[in-house]
Amino acid sequence: MNSGLWMRMCALFCALPALLVTACGEPQTSESPDLDESEFEIISESDKDFFVGGAMVFTFYHELGHALVDQLDIPILGREEDAVDNLATLLITKWQPKELREDLIFASADSFGWQDDYNAATGEALDLSGEHSTDLQRFYNIACTFYGSDPERLGAFANAARLPEDRQEVCPIDFKTMAKGWSEHLGKIERQDGGSRSGKVLVKWDVVKTASGHALRTRLEQSSLLTKALRMFNETYALDKDIVVRYEECDEANAFFDEDTKEVIMCYELAAEFEKLYDWAQPQL
Ligand SMILES: [Zn+2]
Repeated sequence: MNSGLWMRMCALFCALPALLVTACGEPQTSESPDLDESEFEIISESDKDFFVGGAMVFTFYHELGHALVDQLDIPILGREEDAVDNLATLLITKWQPKELREDLIFASADSFGWQDDYNAATGEALDLSGEHSTDLQRFYNIACTFYGSDPERLGAFANAARLPEDRQEVCPIDFKTMAKGWSEHLGKIERQDGGSRSGKVLVKWDVVKTASGHALRTRLEQSSLLTKALRMFNETYALDKDIVVRYEECDEANAFFDEDTKEVIMCYELAAEFEKLYDWAQPQL
């Protein structure tokens, strides 16, 4: 169904945060440093790293959405999983340059489109009783919401995503409705000079036990996309309380907001799954 939208190599602004490495070479838990523009330089990432980084950025914003719903006590009409997918897409529409946000959406949507292809190819049944929309619905919803953010410019994008014409017609309305809802709440936490709120999103990288996990952690820590996602959020918003996003080994490919600790958990295994999905999808394209 989905032939893969995202196929482009990108050059983008990025930062390379220093890794903390002990004498035996084992990275310890570390926090992402605050960055200023002078630390940014242009590099290019491989297609695979861009895909994995892009899919992880979408997941990062999605899980941050759950944490914001909790911290800001945001009432949700409908399914929260869909609402926070919308937030992730909305935050990506604020990225510059415009070509970068398009590539990022391609990677985000394809992570669901390719997963649907993979499940179909391996005979895995659709999970219609799950809390999330199906992978293919998430693919189309992301594409529709993004297209709706700038329909004048994104006609070719909508066609590449194979959004049917009748769906295209409602995307700008859907985007407006969704953006109005989120903007009302995000507006309350917009960073202001001299504002009293000082809470931030803090990223922590937990120790990994395996060599493959170590290498993956290094790639994620050096991902210009994940670095930029964090920086953009903290530059735009100021929270009442910090939100910790912890990367850790979980023994499952997952990401979630922990209601008890109020932390977002991003599993290294999820990034490993995105890498495997990319490798699987390439010969199918
Ligand atoms: Zn969720």
